[in-house]
Amino acid sequence: MNPLIARVALPIPLDKVFDYLIKPNTTPVIGGRVLVPFGRQRLVGIVIAIGNDSDFPVQQLKPIQQVLDSQPLWQPALFELLKWASRYYQYPLGDTLANAMPALLRKGREASTAPLKYWQLTEAGRDQPLNGLKRAPKQAQILNLLRHGPLSHESLLTHDVNSATLKAVVQKGWIIEQQQQPKQHQWQPKFAITEQKPRLNEEQALAIATVNSNPDFGCYLLDGVTGSGKTEVYLNLLEPILTAGKQALILVPEIGLTPQTINRFKRRFNVPLETVHSGLNDSERMTAWLAGRDNQAGIIIGTRSALFTPFANLGIIIVDEEHDASYKQQDSLRYHARDLAVMRANKENIPIILGSATPALETLHNAQTGKYHYLTLSKRAGNASAARHGVIDVKGLYLNAGLSAPLIAEMRKNLNAGNQVMLFLNRRGFSPAMMCHECGWIAECDRCDAYYTLHQQSGELRCHHCATQRPIMHQCLQCGSTQLSPVGVGTEQLEAQLAELFPEFKTVRIDRDSTRRKGSLENYLEAIKNNEYQILIGTQMLAKGHHFPDVTLVALIDVDSALFSNDFRASERLAQLFIQVAGRAGRASKPGSVLLQTHHPEHQLLQSLLHKGYGVFSQTALTERRQALLPPFTHLVLLRAEANDSDLVCQFLQQIRAIFEASPVYDQDCCVLGPNPAPLARRAGRFRWQLILQTPNRNKLQQMLSIAKPAIQLLPLAKKIRWSIDVEPQDL
Ligand code: ADP
Repeated sequence: MNPLIARVALPIPLDKVFDYLIKPNTTPVIGGRVLVPFGRQRLVGIVIAIGNDSDFPVQQLKPIQQVLDSQPLWQPALFELLKWASRYYQYPLGDTLANAMPALLRKGREASTAPLKYWQLTEAGRDQPLNGLKRAPKQAQILNLLRHGPLSHESLLTHDVNSATLKAVVQKGWIIEQQQQPKQHQWQPKFAITEQKPRLNEEQALAIATVNSNPDFGCYLLDGVTGSGKTEVYLNLLEPILTAGKQALILVPEIGLTPQTINRFKRRFNVPLETVHSGLNDSERMTAWLAGRDNQAGIIIGTRSALFTPFANLGIIIVDEEHDASYKQQDSLRYHARDLAVMRANKENIPIILGSATPALETLHNAQTGKYHYLTLSKRAGNASAARHGVIDVKGLYLNAGLSAPLIAEMRKNLNAGNQVMLFLNRRGFSPAMMCHECGWIAECDRCDAYYTLHQQSGELRCHHCATQRPIMHQCLQCGSTQLSPVGVGTEQLEAQLAELFPEFKTVRIDRDSTRRKGSLENYLEAIKNNEYQILIGTQMLAKGHHFPDVTLVALIDVDSALFSNDFRASERLAQLFIQVAGRAGRASKPGSVLLQTHHPEHQLLQSLLHKGYGVFSQTALTERRQALLPPFTHLVLLRAEANDSDLVCQFLQQIRAIFEASPVYDQDCCVLGPNPAPLARRAGRFRWQLILQTPNRNKLQQMLSIAKPAIQLLPLAKKIRWSIDVEPQDL
């Protein structure tokens, strides 16, 4: 009989799997890891099939070196989802699987909780008289500590014990290291609701009853204005799930994972809860992964990648702020966590709730066509009231660091009344460019088609696209003049100007520059809550997940760039930001107001948003998308390519275009746009082009890609050019 052969997916950028011989008396499992030789390396791969035959002569196959798992890493539903994602997003299977594992598993670490290490006295140690150790007081201290019972290594170190002393005591044979498997805790028998719940309003009760009426797969859009009680609905939906001993997965946007969010779930239920986000180190990530798989956590809350956590018994998925752009991964496996979460719920046959005050147009479309159930919460719950809003036409007005006189006056009024004011400007740095006043020269990044951003605090010019930086020059590089001045306003400049305009009030700036240190965002948020700052300046970061009851005025400093952007999603994003910030401010006793500064107050989008709300805006926007044949009415694939030679990149994309057009499934409904220079045509010295494939039919798109990709890979230029496929891109 032929020997057994395992088909293994390896973490390499190739759309191939590799065959290896299974040595007698070893038992790899499908979905489990194996260590295999690959060229001169040894790689950790995943077995995806076991059989008797291979496309290669069996004598040429190498054997598996080590079987790392006796159980599959993923349950069938999640394993199927990962294989599906690899096909759908056109990303190699081995890399996709590696992406979905904690780094420690990728490195071959055992997929179980590490044993606890602790120190214990030996018999000799116990008999050792302490007063005989007067000259070695530290050693005596260790023996004394352990006479009260064994201690973990960590707790011993907290008693000011150093490792040299420890080693000395070990060598004398007085203490010994022991290991113990950590105990698995069953949270289910002790499950309880640990706080008083508010009485649900009718819409909340209806939403909950609708979801609860069907324990199987169903996707529900929970469309509810900010403060309408969506989180309260999530909490109520979790209750029967946790009571039945099942687990819940809650996805939140990248910066939505705040202590406030976590605490609401912790206060309500006494179940172990784990969080998963980019700030975790390797072992914390592993702990959360195991807690899901081994049913040691009842709830897992996390950002995008938490979607890949395995669960022993998953009962529900919730995607909060489902419209948020951070759910889309922008490199490697370019997945959309919301879409993949819907697919996961489908494969696990459980309900999924997509919550938002400003649903993505794609999601609304799915609800309107009956693919998703539509649930709505139309009123603010509790004691909040809706914000008022207005527009300031800044045409012809003098702007002081971007602020018009009417806005400054309005700010003063709110601040003098003891309230807080929040200003949004989506531009970091002091100013987005620096120009010579004498000759008009502008400081430009050498490697990108972009101007340098002036960062005055750090004395640098920085390129926000390739991250290069240089000290601010004092003379124009073209004419030598010293009259260099900033052009345009960024958050840093706004901050400096506000200190002059409002010296009696304190200003805080929240952006990626000011919150780089771990924990700094939380500290700022706490200080804002305690009214240590009265003026808050922020980029998008400030818009999400935080409620500021003492903020009574919110202003969007510049909305014109979004009104006239090339990206067809820019207006949708502006509308979402506007509604979000409007929902952040005020409470019943202190109603908030929102002001927009624009040169185009008559713009149709602003008009419908301001006077008719997001519901009407989104219908108008959907009609426009339908007429323009844009998503969700068509499906797009974006092919990006870049290299040092611009002509080669363009040529390469032309060849890809020809491959698409020659495809047997290409017909008059399909359309290829480009190649065109990318919005940033040169980045970090490389020229960038893009090609868009558009079809009304998702299956056709998939068919076309699966036929085209092997042909693209065979193109000689494919090896010389950096290229990627982005299925359903979010940024064009
Ligand atoms: P959302 O998630 O939609 O922003 P939340 O669930 O956070 O809304 O609710 C907003 C506020 O209203 C919270 O303070 C919450 O405790 C309160 N709340 C929610 N539902 C009710 C209710 N039925 N009765 C009273 N207060 C409620």
